[in-house]
Amino acid sequence: MGDNSRGLAICTECGRKYAARQVASGGLNPIGCPAGCKSCGCTEFEAFSPSDVDSERPDLRG
Ligand SMILES: [Zn+2]
Repeated sequence: MGDNSRGLAICTECGRKYAARQVASGGLNPIGCPAGCKSCGCTEFEAFSPSDVDSERPDLRG
């Protein structure tokens, strides 16, 4: 119980994924990198829904 608030956060800049905790304010707090993305330093993250992983086929658009 109480693990519902855990999930994945994805960096809005470079797309790197992190394990994250959801905070009361509705934001995401990436575990292990409180100062921001380790790749690009961005501090904005979006929730990453695991269901999106299923569609890993090539996506050719345009
Ligand atoms: Zn990043």
